[in-house]
Amino acid sequence: MQLHELTIRESLTLLGQKKISSVELTEALLNRIRTYDKNLHSFITIRDEEVRKEAASADNQRKKKVSKPMLGIPVALKDNFLTKGIRTTSASPVLDDYVPQYDSTYAKKLKDAGAIIIGKTNLDAWGHGSSGEHTVHGVPHNPYARGYVTGGSSSGSGAAVAARFCAVGSGSDTGGSNRQPGSYCNVVGLKPTYGRVSRYGVIAMASSTDSIAHLTRTIWDSAYVLSIVAGHDPLDATTSTQKVNSYHETLMNNYQAKIGIPKQYFEGLNQGVEKSVRKALEILEKKGHSLIEISLPNAKYAYPVYCITVSSEISSNLARYDGIRYGFDRSKFQDEARRRIMIGTHSLSTGYADKYYKQAAKARTLLIRDYQKAFMKVDLIACPVYPFPPFKHQDRDLDPLQMYLSDVLTVTANLTGNPGISVPIEFVNDLPNGLQLIAPHFEESRLFRVGFDVEEELQMYKKKPRLIA
Ligand code: GLN
Repeated sequence: MQLHELTIRESLTLLGQKKISSVELTEALLNRIRTYDKNLHSFITIRDEEVRKEAASADNQRKKKVSKPMLGIPVALKDNFLTKGIRTTSASPVLDDYVPQYDSTYAKKLKDAGAIIIGKTNLDAWGHGSSGEHTVHGVPHNPYARGYVTGGSSSGSGAAVAARFCAVGSGSDTGGSNRQPGSYCNVVGLKPTYGRVSRYGVIAMASSTDSIAHLTRTIWDSAYVLSIVAGHDPLDATTSTQKVNSYHETLMNNYQAKIGIPKQYFEGLNQGVEKSVRKALEILEKKGHSLIEISLPNAKYAYPVYCITVSSEISSNLARYDGIRYGFDRSKFQDEARRRIMIGTHSLSTGYADKYYKQAAKARTLLIRDYQKAFMKVDLIACPVYPFPPFKHQDRDLDPLQMYLSDVLTVTANLTGNPGISVPIEFVNDLPNGLQLIAPHFEESRLFRVGFDVEEELQMYKKKPRLIA
């Protein structure tokens, strides 16, 4: 048995049966990270000695019959999640030596559940990007295709989970950043409903669209972790008090969904991507779901609305990094952050706010109505994640507009607050691809159930990357 191949579900079973220990599991993952990550760049910080102690303590607790849902399971956190006593850089030189005094709620919930943080993963600085290339810690390589991007901005977590360095890595999704690396790394990338998971202690990108979750290799693992990290948090006023389900327990329930296929989301796609997505949809049809063509007439406004809204919030959120509180001053911001701060500041400025920010806010309402109308007819929406397959390093990075095209299919769910997921489907020319599912607010269960049908049929989690030492 290869310990690094274990999912959370399998690890918990074997730990429970005392067939493996947390020390063995942690050691196996650390060895694998040490051997292969120098060529992948998925981690910014790898914890070592402390982790071994924490794993030993988890094993002790298990002996004493302590029961915790993640006891002894190693997890990785994206480096924009504050972790008490562990350096947190957001991949920007501005926070190069920042060590937080407190934990993000997400980190705290996982620690309280018994999980062990093995390290902090690479990202596009501040979450700005779709490829993982905007980092000062080495650009992550796609574990399935060296020289190709991993998707972003949760690039390191996507790569780490795909590379079997850990079974779960956290991520933040402001415009697609969990679903995108999910799609390009052949893993499950979840974006919960806005307000389902606390944003407290996750470095804010755009406060009205930031959504917090994780990447895993299976749907069960994704559902299980959501049931632990979701819920109301007095420290984040936007979190909902709505009951948290045991999402992993309803995967097998019989469910036949009406799935909406928005015609606008299938225009101008790469042919390979379209073929792979259409094949996945056929699987769903075969499993008893029905496909219904729908129209989202305002789809073309989604990216412009996102760009203005999110850049405006970025310019306000990043203003706090003035050198007084955290490490270095604003001169350390790099090109992408500067670009977004400038677009945002301009959109909000006197004389222009009516034309840009307020106009975008109105158009955002149109996008919300499009989804509301669609969900009166269908239970879920299905489409690709990216319009094209994984690209090579630098292919898009030199032209920001080419990069922004990556986001056209993911940003709407952030503007409307709907939950979404990327589920691994058949590769396109040997490169990973994902099916995106989007559900009504707080209906994450539907994503998991239907995603599970795809997973059961294709079993893409069995396709392992070949890593280079
Ligand atoms: N790729 C998108 C962007 O560059 C989304 C980023 C995110 O979700 N953090 O804005």
